[in-house]
Amino acid sequence: MITIGHFIDGARVAGQGSRSKDIFNPNTGAVQARVSMATPGELDAAVASAAKAQVIWANTNPQKRSRVLFAYKQLVEANMDDLAQMLSSEHGKVLADSRGDVIRGVDVIEFACGIPHSQKGEHTYGAGPEIDVYSMRKPLGVVAGITPFNFPAMIPMWMFGMAIATGNACILKPSEKDPSVPMRLAELFVEAGGPIGLLQCINGDKEIVDAICDHPTIKAVSFVGSSDIAQYVYARATANGKRAQCMGGAKNHGIIMPDANMDQAVKDILGAAFGSAGERCMALPVVVPVGEGTAERFLDKMLPAIKAMKVGVSEDPDADYGPVVTAAHRDSINSQVSKAVEEGATLVVDGRDFSLQGYEDGFFVGPSLLDDVTSDMETYQDEIFGPVLQIVRADTFEDALRLPSEHQYGNGVAIFTQNGRVAREFADRVEVGMVGINVPIPVPVAYHSFGGWKRSAFGDANQYGMEGLRFYTKVKTVTQRWPEGETEDSAFIIPTF
Ligand code: NAD
Repeated sequence: MITIGHFIDGARVAGQGSRSKDIFNPNTGAVQARVSMATPGELDAAVASAAKAQVIWANTNPQKRSRVLFAYKQLVEANMDDLAQMLSSEHGKVLADSRGDVIRGVDVIEFACGIPHSQKGEHTYGAGPEIDVYSMRKPLGVVAGITPFNFPAMIPMWMFGMAIATGNACILKPSEKDPSVPMRLAELFVEAGGPIGLLQCINGDKEIVDAICDHPTIKAVSFVGSSDIAQYVYARATANGKRAQCMGGAKNHGIIMPDANMDQAVKDILGAAFGSAGERCMALPVVVPVGEGTAERFLDKMLPAIKAMKVGVSEDPDADYGPVVTAAHRDSINSQVSKAVEEGATLVVDGRDFSLQGYEDGFFVGPSLLDDVTSDMETYQDEIFGPVLQIVRADTFEDALRLPSEHQYGNGVAIFTQNGRVAREFADRVEVGMVGINVPIPVPVAYHSFGGWKRSAFGDANQYGMEGLRFYTKVKTVTQRWPEGETEDSAFIIPTF
């Protein structure tokens, strides 16, 4: 049984800590490895090495930094199959979906390759008499990224891609449930010619997250995970004077207007609700059919679609989704379904007793469909994060608009309609950060930026794109003049132009 340590100073090192945690293969339920929980001393060593590397990196011209990122992008792409295999074996998502996880991360590296252009400052020639003003975006120093289990390739790359491109060093603290891909991504960075020490990977849990939030050398913390922990990390990191952007949980709604193309909407919602076993912060676990008869038309098509879905092992090319990440998570999903029934929802499809032949110990959960869900139910208000689709019926557009707007989470939302005017109004008024119009999973492309509202995000900067650049840099503004000739008198009033 191997125990995964950390990636410090350009090499894999064994963990010094006394604690370690199991890493499962969710397909079989077997423990396949262990991961060492870092101590604050190990974090200190990583930060010291990162701080040294950062000074040189920050003074490396942006074109050279960009070339390292180009080489890295190519190397990650060349390792795609291995990374996807590794990802599926610890997370459980199907291989094609694991490739998507890597690709959406590489998209951010690709955007980061344009850093010589996007990190340019602003310049005003002649802001006053022979006075010029210019600004520069300076890196912060050493920053940290703390990531969840559900996108072990994409989310680390969101963070370290932008952090490193802008001239920082990054300490990555991946989820302890599936650390192998983040470890390999850090190793590949060195293989691609990245300076040693610039990207470090420290494994651990709450103890090391606390140490990161308290570490005086770490200047910023980017976090993605569940909302309570996001809020905690935000409070602790900012109390220590750090910048923080902390993304939390979600409960995304799909509004189906009466004029929607129902065949397409059902296909879109099926994939968005059940893909990756519902373990996506941009999954669509709530559907809101609007008006009379819309719910019935939706159910007529959704029921056979759910029955035709295949739950299988990650390597099965025909499987639509695989197991969930741990037995504890499987049990939590199943108990949420039972609780929904107790709260008065109608269980139309029951996935609780699902078992896959030959993989009876795997962490599989069948698809569940709950109808007659209402906004006062706790199982509606809470994130289930599993293959469970809840139907909340709405009489009018206004009712439908209110549901995602008043929900505690505001990550993503989608509306299915053929009426552009209705869609436009919805996008304008809904209190949610990312909106899809006939697009079920509106994760913005790498040159826009990602972020929810309300309890889905704490802090004011989104992930990646120009928002990511803003988060990982501080602005310095220079006002200059080059006087010659007669000396001017002292000025006792604030200069005005
Ligand atoms: P999690 O909150 O359990 O863990 C996230 C990170 O926090 C991990 O690195 C973990 O080690 C660390 N952590 C766990 N407990 C901690 C504690 N008590 N104190 C300090 N740190 C702690 O989340 P998860 O289960 O890995 O991921 C699923 C959650 O992440 C879901 O809620 C999902 O919606 C959310 N998520 C959000 C986004 C987004 O961008 N909004 C994206 C992906 C996932």
